[in-house]
Amino acid sequence: MNNDMIIRRNFLPFSIPSIGDEEIAEVIDTLKSGWITTGQKTKNFEELFKRYVGCNHAIAVSSCTAALHLALVAAGIGVGDEVITTPFTFAATGEVIIYMGAKPVFVDIKNDTYNIDPDKIEAAITSKTKAIIPVHYAGQPCDMDKILKIAHKYNLIVIEDAAHAIGAKYKEKTIGTIGDITAFSFYATKNLTTAEGGMVTTSKQEYADKIRILSLHGLSKDAWKRYGAEGSWYYEIMDAGYKYNMTDIQASIGIHQLAKFEQMQEIRQKHVNRYTDELKDIIGITTPFVLSDVQHAWHLYTILINSDILGLNRAQFIEAMTHENIGTSVHFIPLHLHPYYQKVYGYKRGDFPITEYIYDRIISLPLYTSMTENDVSDVINAIKKIINEK
Ligand SMILES: *Cc1c(COP(=O)(O)O)cnc(C)c1O
Repeated sequence: MNNDMIIRRNFLPFSIPSIGDEEIAEVIDTLKSGWITTGQKTKNFEELFKRYVGCNHAIAVSSCTAALHLALVAAGIGVGDEVITTPFTFAATGEVIIYMGAKPVFVDIKNDTYNIDPDKIEAAITSKTKAIIPVHYAGQPCDMDKILKIAHKYNLIVIEDAAHAIGAKYKEKTIGTIGDITAFSFYATKNLTTAEGGMVTTSKQEYADKIRILSLHGLSKDAWKRYGAEGSWYYEIMDAGYKYNMTDIQASIGIHQLAKFEQMQEIRQKHVNRYTDELKDIIGITTPFVLSDVQHAWHLYTILINSDILGLNRAQFIEAMTHENIGTSVHFIPLHLHPYYQKVYGYKRGDFPITEYIYDRIISLPLYTSMTENDVSDVINAIKKIINEK
C-alpha cells in the first residue's frame, strides 16, 4: 500500500486523558501543602461527587475494583455464595466475586445494549445466589427496573458496576442512586480520571459506615485526622479492613475533572453524534443502539463489523485501522473465554452465544475530550476508505 495515501501521518491513540492546567496546579498545591494522602481534598471531592450524583453517601477509594470489593464485603458475600453478573465485562467485575470465595455466575447479554439480559437472570438464580452486579456497558444503563424487581423477589443485593457510567441516567434517575451500592472508576481511560481511583455511592448509612471503615484498615477514625490539629493518637481496629483509601493527590485531579465534567460530556456527545451520522448507513457496520429512556455516558463508542458483507473480519479491520494510524480497542474479551474461568469454573465457548457473537464483531473507536473534529473525521474517513478498498 502507498503510504502517501494513508489517512493520518501521526498515530491517533485510542485514549488520552484530558488533564488541564487546573488539575496540574491543584496537584502542585497538594504536593507543597505538607499533606499528600487522604485528607481535606479527598473529603471535598467526595462532597462534590455526592452533590453531582445526588446520592446520600460517597466514599472515595483507590479504584473501582476496590469499590466493588468493599461493596461485596459490606453486602456480606461469603464462601460458597453465588453472584450473578455479565461475562461481557472487564477482569475486575469477576475477580472481586472470587476474592470473597464466591462463584461468578454469568448471564448472557442483550444483543442491542450488550447489557445483562434481565429475562435470563431468574434461570441462573439458585439457593446460593446473594447478589447481582449489573455492568452499565459503555455507559448505557442496564434495565434496572427489571433487575430490581428480580432482586426484590429473591432478596438479592444489587451492586452496580458503573465504571463506564458516571453521569448516566436511567429514567431520570442518576446512576449511583438506584441499586444498593454503586462503584465508579476514575482510571486513566475513564470519562473522569484521577489516574487511578474510584468511588462508592449508597443510600444506606449502614453500608456507607462499613465501607468507610473497611477502606482504611478497619480503623475507627479517619486516619488523616490523627495527624491534624484536631487529631488524636488513639484509634480502634473495628474490622479486618483494607488499604483502599484515595489520596489528596488523586482528589486534586478529580475535583477539577468534576468541575468540567458536563462540558467534557458534551464534547463526547458531539463526537458520538458525528460517528453515528456518518457510519449508520454503511452496510456491514452496526452503530450503537441507544434506549429512549436513558442518558448514555458514552465511555465507549463501539461498532459491529459484519465480515460477510465487508469481506474482512474484525482482526483484519483493526489491522487496517492501525495501518491508517488510528488506534482502536476491543471491549471486552468475555470473561468465560479466558483460561482461568475455563479451568476453574468449566466455562467454555458456546455458553453465552450472544456475548460471543458481539465479541467476535465488536471494535471500540477512539472517543475522548481532547479529540478534535479533524481527529473524528480521520477515524470516519479511515473506516470508509478501508471498506471501499475491499
Ligand atoms: C475499568 C473497569 C473496572 C475497573 O476500574 P478500576 O478503577 O481500574 O479498578 C471495572 N469494571 C469495568 C466494567 C471497567 O471497565
